[in-house]
Amino acid sequence: MARRRSTVRIGVTGLGEREELVPGVFINNHYRGCTPGFIHTEEGIVLVDTPLIPKQALDWREQIEDEYPGEPFLYLINTDHHRGHALGNQYMLPVTVIAHERAHKEMSGYTDNFKERVRNSFKREPEIQAQLNNIEIIPPHVTFTSRAKLLFGTREIELIFVGGHTPATSIVWLPSEKVCFVGDILWVDQHPYMAQGNTLEWLNALELIRQLGAEYLVPGHGPVCGPDATYRVGEYIEFMRRRVRDYYMEGKNKNETKSGLVGEMLEWFPVPPERKAKIESQIKSGLNRVFREIQREEEQQEGDFEDEEDDDAG
Ligand SMILES: [Zn+2]
Repeated sequence: MARRRSTVRIGVTGLGEREELVPGVFINNHYRGCTPGFIHTEEGIVLVDTPLIPKQALDWREQIEDEYPGEPFLYLINTDHHRGHALGNQYMLPVTVIAHERAHKEMSGYTDNFKERVRNSFKREPEIQAQLNNIEIIPPHVTFTSRAKLLFGTREIELIFVGGHTPATSIVWLPSEKVCFVGDILWVDQHPYMAQGNTLEWLNALELIRQLGAEYLVPGHGPVCGPDATYRVGEYIEFMRRRVRDYYMEGKNKNETKSGLVGEMLEWFPVPPERKAKIESQIKSGLNRVFREIQREEEQQEGDFEDEEDDDAG
């Protein structure tokens, strides 16, 4: 069977060739929004995430069907509910979408207003904007809360809820192949998106990923790497937590903390000039989130201290 080699480029919308990580496990990191993957099993195909831009989603479908003509799509796993991972679901039907139950809750709440926001985010790229006129949200048909396994022949595909990046973030672990799709827990050489994050959960997720014994990690954003790549993003999160706590302890409010720390955070990863404003605003959303987390932690500690005093009094 001849493998198609796609060199087509549509504006800045890349359509690049898939890459086979280990036999039957493919990814494509040429798309915008995330790096999707698929796993061939004896009974059909299991997909991990979908490209956001319709032409890229259709290209991806074509590439899968080109690799395994006529084989059914069994399951499509969304590692989180964000547009970059789940908006292409509609182009993979018929398939059973599976994700954490909170991803279902989020995606069921995607209204026309959300679709409009997605279209608006491409207002400088009218060719892509025009592709997004028929967005159809396909929330998960099957949900899980902690762990789930898909077992097809010799393939074992484990879904593990980790949270951290969003309250729905899950990773996909193939223990025999030592491949882990780590979703947006791992960002390589770029600022993680933290606006819906929980940093303690996130740090735990990074630790869990390190302990899997994986050879290949497939990040939602950035190149395929090994477990060592998890350290940098962990340090970034720890640094942010430490600096936010410094500001909080000095009595700074949330806005002072955000504007005070955005410059320090920016230096951690390279930022292309045309994306600077967007990244700054994402970092501020992350700082906002972490400020609330630190505030809760500190208030909780004070609460514990008061409880202890009460105990003494009793
Ligand atoms: Zn995400």
